[in-house]
Amino acid sequence: MKEGWEAVIGMEIHAQLKTETKIFCGCAANFGDEPNANTCPVCLGLPGALPVLNEKVVELGAKAALSLGLNINETSIFSRKNYFYPDLPKGYQISQFDKPFSSNGTLEVLTAERDESGHAKDWKPIKIHIERMHLEEDAGKNVHEGLPDVDKYSYIDLNRAGTPLGEIVTGPDFRTSWQAYDYVNHVRRVLQWVGASDADMEKGNLRCEANVSVRKVGEEKFRNKVELKNLNSVRFMQKAIEYEIERQIEAHESGEGVNQETRLWDEKNNKTKVMRSKEDAHDYRYFPEPDLQPLKVSTEFIEKIKSEIPELPDAMLARFQRDYDLTFADASQLVGDISLAAFYEATAAASKNARASANWILSELQREWNAAGNSAADSPVSAENLAELIRFLDEEKINGKQAKEVLIEMFASGKSAADVVKEQGLEQISDSGAIEKIVEDVMAANEGQVAAYRGGNEKLLGFFVGQVMKASKGQANPKMVNEVLLEKLK
Ligand code: ZN
Ligand code: MN
Repeated sequence: MKEGWEAVIGMEIHAQLKTETKIFCGCAANFGDEPNANTCPVCLGLPGALPVLNEKVVELGAKAALSLGLNINETSIFSRKNYFYPDLPKGYQISQFDKPFSSNGTLEVLTAERDESGHAKDWKPIKIHIERMHLEEDAGKNVHEGLPDVDKYSYIDLNRAGTPLGEIVTGPDFRTSWQAYDYVNHVRRVLQWVGASDADMEKGNLRCEANVSVRKVGEEKFRNKVELKNLNSVRFMQKAIEYEIERQIEAHESGEGVNQETRLWDEKNNKTKVMRSKEDAHDYRYFPEPDLQPLKVSTEFIEKIKSEIPELPDAMLARFQRDYDLTFADASQLVGDISLAAFYEATAAASKNARASANWILSELQREWNAAGNSAADSPVSAENLAELIRFLDEEKINGKQAKEVLIEMFASGKSAADVVKEQGLEQISDSGAIEKIVEDVMAANEGQVAAYRGGNEKLLGFFVGQVMKASKGQANPKMVNEVLLEKLK
């Protein structure tokens, strides 16, 4: 960032809460299904249909709020947010306005700046004020697509209408794009950990918007801000914020100034572009939803939810470093995703070698996952099978080079380590009787060298080791071969 300037960034995240049914009706909350398959009079907005709050939304919302440091309000009110759009059949969205479900939270987020090559340096915690997390329903979706018989075809799919959302709004507390990036990842992981949301940006069940402005260092009031939308991944979001900071500083310095407007991230050209200006800003005319009671939650309910919250990612990160003796870098990679963290813990437990488990997962297995488009969640090699491979290596049944080949075959075939080792005849010969027999044969076939060795030419040991390994087709345990040779050649 240019000397003398600072960025002021606030974040809004919409997270789809992971319920089976919608927030105010019994329709399935899936939106990959046949268009408009999951609809009923309530979510179609038919006159006279009445909403009923899904209790599961309150539970998941409470889990999310508490694990993000928010306070749950004893009473919250649902309000109608009025606007017209084709994907909103009622003409309003049921949301919350002046009395939200939860508010006033402080969240500690680990964050780091990145160098030119994207490596993080100096992780440190920052404190973020979360103003609120309220509950609301999602709108439907306008779909524009080609069909075999029709060139351009547009329709409205209301499967998504009425799916539950938690909207999480922070104060203007971020000063760099990477802080915003680390915050979104923090929230994403917390929501996954507590089971409140799948929080997958690519699937659209976590959507974020950034409010970005810049000001001179030392300035107290805010300058005009720009709202960034259409951010399809956390990385695009970071790039869009970074671009916007530079653009705004330049616009202020040139005297051109910054318009208060909404901008989109243009992925192709790597820049932001105007979506709408302030002139089109909405006036939502919120008013209380008359068809829903105020939502009241008891202290007992909050205590019960608190007791169900599992270990959160940052606590897990600290534990991985402490109990498994992992570096911060390795532990934070493993805690990057809930399935990966679970995969690691299962491997470490079954292999009894925590360090090797981390190394194998983060190097060899990660490479296979990347190449095949898999992840820990759908790994062709299970944690148990990887643990078996690590045990074989620790027991010196196979060597490191063989283990890497075995893993590739396990990945391709889905077979266990034991099956692959057996099929490929890789198992090391660690049976001392068998090794003694080979050593004796080799000595009998090379009487001259035996005499020379015994006469003082100890360099010949390497020759004997080579002969024994060759006779065993490379399968003899090298350490045992050495020991047996030294004994017999005395
Ligand atoms: Zn419905
Ligand atoms: Mn919203």
